[in-house]
This record gives sequence, C-alpha cells and structure tokens, in this order.
Amino acid sequence: MGKKSILILVDGMRRDALEACGHPFVQEILKTGAVRLAARCVMPSVTLPCHISLFHSVPPQRHGTLTNDYTQQVRPVRSLPEQLHLLEKSTAMFYSWEQLRDIALPGNMDYSLFMNLHRHEHSDVCLTDAALSYIDAEKPDFVFLYLGQTDETGHGKGWMGEEYLQTVYTAWDCIERVARKTQGEYDLFITADHGGHERCHGTEMPEDMNIPLFVRTVDSLPVKPRLQREGEPEGKQQASIMDIAPTIATVMGIPLPRDWEGESLV
Ligand SMILES: [Zn+2]
Repeated sequence: MGKKSILILVDGMRRDALEACGHPFVQEILKTGAVRLAARCVMPSVTLPCHISLFHSVPPQRHGTLTNDYTQQVRPVRSLPEQLHLLEKSTAMFYSWEQLRDIALPGNMDYSLFMNLHRHEHSDVCLTDAALSYIDAEKPDFVFLYLGQTDETGHGKGWMGEEYLQTVYTAWDCIERVARKTQGEYDLFITADHGGHERCHGTEMPEDMNIPLFVRTVDSLPVKPRLQREGEPEGKQQASIMDIAPTIATVMGIPLPRDWEGESLV
C-alpha cells in the first residue's frame, strides 16, 4: 500500500491565533510527532493566488492568478492533484469556497464535496464529518480539507477578535478529530493560505504573510534543520507555501513536476 496524505487548510488562520485561541491540541499535536514550522505565503496574500501557488508550487507571477478570479495559465504547470491523478493515486477534496475548483483541471479529482459557507453556518464541522466518513470508507491516497469560516469571520468581525478566535478554536476541534482518527495511517499537513489584520488581508505585512505549518509524517521523517521552527528567533530560512506540494509528493514517493519551484521540507 502506498503512502497517503491529508492537507488541512484553514483560510486566514494567523500564526499567532493558535496560541491566542487557547486550543489544547495546538500543543498536544507536537507530542504526536508533528513539527511546527514558521511559514510564509506569497504576494498577493489573497486566497486564490495563494492556493494556486500552494498546489502548483510556483509564485503568482508564474501561474498568473493575481486575484480571486482564476486566470488560465499561459504555460500550464501541473498541479499536485493533476500529478497524483497521472500516477493513479486517488484524490478527494472537501471545500466551502467554490473558486477552489480551479486547483486542478477537470477530470483530476476523484471525489469532491462543495458546501457553500455562506449558506451553511457550520460548514467547517460538516465538511470534517464528511471527510472523515469518506476516508473511513474509501481510504483515498490524498485528501484536501478546506475550512473557510475563519476568513469569513475575520472579514466580518475583525482578525484576532473574539469571534475570529472562536472560529480558529472550532477549526482546531476539526483538526484534532482528523489528526487522532488518521494517526499512523496518513501523513498530515496543516496550514493556512494567508493571515489577516483588521478586516482584510492582501498586503506584505507579517500579519498577512505569516502562516502556520505543521508536518506530521507516519515515519517521523526529519524536517530539514535549516528551516525555522515556530518560536525560534529569525535567521533561519522560513518555509514557503510553495514547498507544501513538493513535500507531499516527496512523502508520497511520487516524482516532482519539473516546473515546480518549491522544495521538499523533509
Ligand atoms: Zn479573505
């Protein structure tokens, strides 16, 4: 049986929101073999450009999507789901923001569940329930779980406010359920697409650019020592959102498309 991975992305989850929300699993997951890195997204720190960079491992200047409207690529780079599909790995995604359908060209995702977060008050929890049932039944090789309520609350009520931190806490309830249920079976990656400040994001400010990144592999593969862990003084290299796809491909034992610009973290 090949190696399997789950990527959980919490939209607009700031690095410093993890301590501020007070969820105990933020610390507990480190005792289960996870490494917590200090990572950065790409400019513009906006949802679709950052997701396209994450899944295609190239900066926005290369893939061409600079806003939340998808731009067809002039010189297409293969995305992680496309590469997985080509190598006959099964893929599934669970998401609540419809623009994310463009992380892969049609025909590359074996299962996808979209639930509009504006119409479903508890979309994060519902998508987590659905993802866990699907994982249990089908054991797909790769799962992308997108939780969108944090960003929505940031825009509506302000980043780092009480309501925002509550949605981060709920997202960590979801993360804890997935992490506990799939331990020993799936490699796990937890991150965000960008941060936020006041009621927006998109700038080069650290509040917008700094993102958390947790890597937990079944085999406890060592993360490269040159990379800055969360809480370490600056000076070491920070991981990039573009490094996530190469890392997942590496731990799953599949080759990296030549155009990818990120590097594996393990
Ligand atoms: Zn946003």
